[in-house]
This record gives sequence, C-alpha cells and structure tokens, in this order.
Amino acid sequence: MNALFHQAGIQPEEIRTIDDLHRLPVTKKDQLPEIQQRSLPFGGFLAVSRDQLRRIFVSPGPIYDPEGTEQDYWGFAPALHAAGFRRGDLVLNTFSYHLTPAGQMLDQALSVLGCVVIPGGVGNTEIQARAVLDLGANGFTGTFSFLSTLLHKLAEQSPLRVAFVTGEMVPEAGRKRLEEAYRIRISQGYGTADVGLIAYECPLRMGMHLSSRVLVEILDPESSAPLPPGQVGEVVVTFLSKVYPLVRMATGDLSSLTVDPCPCGRTSPRLVRVIGRVGDAVKVRGIFLHPLEADRALSQVSEVARYQFVVTRPKDQDELELLVELHNEGPDHHALQEKIALLIRENLKLRADVKIVPPGTIPLDAKKIEDRRVWE
Ligand SMILES: [Zn+2]
Repeated sequence: MNALFHQAGIQPEEIRTIDDLHRLPVTKKDQLPEIQQRSLPFGGFLAVSRDQLRRIFVSPGPIYDPEGTEQDYWGFAPALHAAGFRRGDLVLNTFSYHLTPAGQMLDQALSVLGCVVIPGGVGNTEIQARAVLDLGANGFTGTFSFLSTLLHKLAEQSPLRVAFVTGEMVPEAGRKRLEEAYRIRISQGYGTADVGLIAYECPLRMGMHLSSRVLVEILDPESSAPLPPGQVGEVVVTFLSKVYPLVRMATGDLSSLTVDPCPCGRTSPRLVRVIGRVGDAVKVRGIFLHPLEADRALSQVSEVARYQFVVTRPKDQDELELLVELHNEGPDHHALQEKIALLIRENLKLRADVKIVPPGTIPLDAKKIEDRRVWE
C-alpha cells in the first residue's frame, strides 16, 4: 500500500477526512494477484503481524485473503439478522469451506447469532437434502441457484423458512416464485472475498444498505470520476479494517447508490442492485448499458421474443437503436414501440430508437448489445 501511495506522491498523514479519499489511487481488484506477488503474501496491505490472524484463504487469482481474530470478522451477522435468522435456528450453510472464505464468513456470523450450523459446503446435494429433512433445518445460506435446486428436490416437504443468498445475481421474479411455492423468505447480501459484507437487504428489501465496515463510492470505471446517486458505475470499496485496510479497491461490479431515506430506519445509503461486471457493459452517451439490465427491462414486455441493441456513432454522437422481434406480429406496432421506448428510458436511463423487425432479422448468434462505433 505504501508503494501505491508513494507512486501517487501522497504521504499517509495528508489523508485526514473522507473528503481526502478521492486523492488516493484506485486499485483494480484484478491487479491484486500481481500486487500480492510483488510483495508476498498480502501486497503490503496487512496492518498486523501474522500471529494476529486466524486464517488465510486462497481465492482464485490466486489472491490471499487474511482473516483477523475478532468475532464475525467478515461482518455478516447484521445481514443475517435482518434476513430473519434467530438464536436456535438450524441452518444449512452451503458455501465452500475449502480454500475460499465464504463458508467461514457465514459460519462465523451464524454462530454469533446463536444459530446451529450444518456445514454443508458445496456439492453432495442428495446428502444435504436428506440432512435438511432428517434434522428439520429451517435456515439456508448459499447461492440462489443452489437454494433453487435444493427446494425443487425437497418439494413440499421443505422445512426451510429463511434463507440468505449472496455471490450471484438474484432474479426478482425467480425469488418471488420460490418464496410463494415453498413458503420461505429469501434475502440477499453483497460482499467480496477480501472485504466480507459490503451491503445487505433490510426487511423492506428496497436495495441493499451499506455496511458500516466499508466506505463505498460509485466511480466511472474509466476515469475514476465520482458519479452521483442514481447513476450506474463501478463499486469501489474502502475496507475500514485494522487488519487488512484495503483503500479504494475497484470491485469490477456495476451498481448505483440511492440516498433516499428507507422506512426501516437504517440511515445508510443503499446499493440499488448489482447489475453485472464492468467488462460486459457498453457505455452509451456516458451511461452504462449492461446485457443483464437490458434483459431485466425487456422481460417486462411479454410480446418481445428477441432483441438487439446496436450502438453507432455517426457525426461524433452516440446513437442507440433497439431492434425487436415479436412472438406474434400484432397490428399496432406504433403503440408497442412507444411502450418499449418508455420502458428503456425509465429502466436504463437511455433513449433508444425502437424498431420492430420481422422474425429472423436479428442473427441467431448476435450479441445483445452490438457496439459498431469506430474510434479514430
Ligand atoms: Zn431499509
């Protein structure tokens, strides 16, 4: 870390308040393996001696993630409490306990809350399902995908009533279907292997409140300029840790912040939704357009069979066209075009020229967002 400060020409004592944060360099998470290799094992970011650690995890990269000795070091207990986990619950924890930290992150938080843990780990679906039934487990932690697999296997016998999921995108409609079919409440959180919990849903589930363990900025991934609330950019995290104080680590995830008050009474800002990875997004007129976000918006129009965004740049201005193929060729294309254009404006904050095209116009192997701009 000192080397990065030095490169940026900054003395650590010059940094006194949150407003000084923007003077510090942003470190991309995918640079961490290289930074650590240059100064093994933690790239100079470790602020304590090794005997003050409890564990060292090995994440893909490899990235070495140190764990301090405090209870609930990774900070997930408040997220689990908000999700509805309580003392005495019997919880199947299906995150990996092997090399990577997620298994331990949730295990420790569950212990702090007084829950009893079945350390399920990854795989062995049959054995895990059997254990849930035999033992009468009422709680689940893991990914949304594995929860879905498990619930379909357990079917109407499922005793699971409360779940906390993280590590992947949660489809809103899919969550609702599972909740209704299996009488379970599913809440989500967002974190990384180096930092632990970054944000989590309160019982109202209107976005994810920021954890007090971190400072979160939303920055333009190219220029690192700060973006205002509501605008999508890269999540950049400063970990307020005495053990491993990462400063301005760019996660590669895209999201936006809202500072509107939440009726739950928590005063921290909320991440609206993590919409995907920086590398998959295309910037149009300064706004990020991400394939998953486009899918989410267009899935609200049942007439749409397939679509493709095309970005061009005639006369030094970005233009965005949306080609749409329909399930059934209805008579009133004009009204539907208007409806889709409005939806795109409201959901993606972009104006698109919507064109309804005959089935087969969009090539089968077409990208959902085709960037045809030529930069000279
Ligand atoms: Zn809230």
